Amino acid sequence: MRKVTENLQDIKEEITSACKRAHRNPEDIKVIAVTKYVPVERASEAIQAGILDLGENREEGLTAKWEVLRDKPNWHFIGSLQTRKVKNIIDKVDYIHSLDRLSLAQEIDKRADRKIKCLVQVNVSGEESKHGLTPEEVPGFIHELKGLPNIEVAGLMTMAPLTDDQQLLHKCFRRLNDLKNEIQNMKLDYAPCTELSMGMSNDYSIAIEEGATMVRIGTALVGEEE
Ligand SMILES: *Cc1c(COP(=O)(O)O)cnc(C)c1O
Repeated sequence: MRKVTENLQDIKEEITSACKRAHRNPEDIKVIAVTKYVPVERASEAIQAGILDLGENREEGLTAKWEVLRDKPNWHFIGSLQTRKVKNIIDKVDYIHSLDRLSLAQEIDKRADRKIKCLVQVNVSGEESKHGLTPEEVPGFIHELKGLPNIEVAGLMTMAPLTDDQQLLHKCFRRLNDLKNEIQNMKLDYAPCTELSMGMSNDYSIAIEEGATMVRIGTALVGEEE
């Protein structure tokens, strides 16, 4: 298996080229290492390589790695989140990328003892298999979060369809960026909405060209389980 440092080197070069094309600063892009496929040793190697942010999509995976690594990285919960599991992760996470319903927001607000940075998950492509709100539902949903003091809408998150169609990928990511601007224009103090979590191993360059501030990279960075 390749070393994480080697993979990270390649990824940083790609990020730099994508930023050049888009006239952006590479420092504005946070690389989240998605460690869901790999053991804690590999997550630890990523931290050694300079990664500051880890992403996990299941409560069990996050908890197990958190027990070992504690507050060394920032923790991102990126998977669909069952309401009853909120209490197990709430004290461990820095960001929740999968806010998609009011009942979940209410549970997060109730269990948290501080403001939690949440990203609203949006299903831009309309694929049925994907979680998240439709773009049209998002402004109304964010209005509904008013009055939940522990919820901060830090940004929006999406998963693009699995496709080689570059134009379609550009279109999906651009749609999420437009929606981010729309939310910012609502000027709600609890919804600064500055973050765009989009782009994975296969499409992060395109996501960066369209404004991603957080890319969630698993396979290309830490590899899949052997
Ligand atoms: C697994 C996963 C990723 C990383 O996927 P790769 O294609 O391996 O980079 C990113 N985001 C979410 C929500 C995931 O579940």
